Amino acid sequence: MKIQKPLFESIKYCTRCCMPETQESVQFDELGKCTACQASEQKIHINWVEREKELRKILENAKATSGGNYDCILPLSGGKDSMFQAYVLTHVYGMKVLGVTFNHSWYSETGWYNLQNLLDVFNIDHVIFTPNRKLVNKLARKSLEAIGDSCWTCHSGPPAFVFRMAVAYKIPLLVWGESAADFSGKDSYKNQKLKFDRDYWLKMSGKKRWDEILDEDITEKDLQPFVIPSAEEIEKVGVFGIHLGNYIFWDDERHTEFVRDNFNWKETEIEKTYKGYKSAECMMPGVHDFTCFLKRGYGRASWHASIDVRNGLLSRDEGFELINKYDTEIPEALEYYLKITGYTEDEFYEIMKKKRMDKIKNEDLKIKNKTHKNAEVIKPYVEQLLEKHRNRKDPREKN
Ligand SMILES: [Zn+2]
Repeated sequence: MKIQKPLFESIKYCTRCCMPETQESVQFDELGKCTACQASEQKIHINWVEREKELRKILENAKATSGGNYDCILPLSGGKDSMFQAYVLTHVYGMKVLGVTFNHSWYSETGWYNLQNLLDVFNIDHVIFTPNRKLVNKLARKSLEAIGDSCWTCHSGPPAFVFRMAVAYKIPLLVWGESAADFSGKDSYKNQKLKFDRDYWLKMSGKKRWDEILDEDITEKDLQPFVIPSAEEIEKVGVFGIHLGNYIFWDDERHTEFVRDNFNWKETEIEKTYKGYKSAECMMPGVHDFTCFLKRGYGRASWHASIDVRNGLLSRDEGFELINKYDTEIPEALEYYLKITGYTEDEFYEIMKKKRMDKIKNEDLKIKNKTHKNAEVIKPYVEQLLEKHRNRKDPREKN
């Protein structure tokens, strides 16, 4: 068998999985293993029975003190984690939850179905916030210059909205899914380093605050939905957040199978990866992950292959083979992104060139066109719906 090499010779990779040193906040141990590999080893040695007891205590306490109010807020995208969280909270622990969604406005058809199906299956009260389309498009443009990817709206909108709802409804407990040790590498299972406060998500995803996004075209009024309530307001309600993944063993593959087989959660084709469950709710991950690749030389396939290598589902060579195929692909969603932002292709690549890390400055990135059309239509489902109905006849008219 041909040995598959990492894409770039100039950078160091984890000795166990396929993650490069260009990953944000990665730290290799003395054996050359990355933060996520270290976390996955910690995960095996954790006493999950004890952790579950801690969770039960937190949830029981929330129920005991909520009175006639909701027991907790469940931030929902409709992804497989949302579905699993909803199952755990309502079915296993009997919590009365308020579902809260910040609509990033790029829902795929599958994603929109999954969200509606979740609300239906678990019978959940739901609040959704939808920023106007013009603002979403402006922010998509601004985001590239400001943070080097397409998705500032989604990094900043959901946490702000969840805090706003916690304060408005006076619900202290917020329950997220996957542990930060798994999804960001910025925290660890052993000693949770990051304190939960109003800046938690800002530190976690390391992105810019709303007031750093202002310009002559994006005003303070426009950005109200992204303003996090004051520390005093948050303290008054006693808001605090947890990740279920710190209390129950988190296994993406098994959770996906579980919600798919029991509750009709649907996978779909997602650009730039071989897995069909991560970010299934959105039509833009292709662009998000492509910008990561242009900056740091790795994308979604590197993440996914590394998870599979850690879990023994792939060899490291097989991982690099998948990475070579998917991480270098130009996503179909780039066309939509250029349309809504008004950037030309040259401008897009010019901006991304400036964001490229020094370590890969002189590398040939080997980007290539996709060889097939994505199975899921790469256009927000709501835009598809509007087009369809704007062009349809009055149903009372025959033919
Ligand atoms: Zn690793």
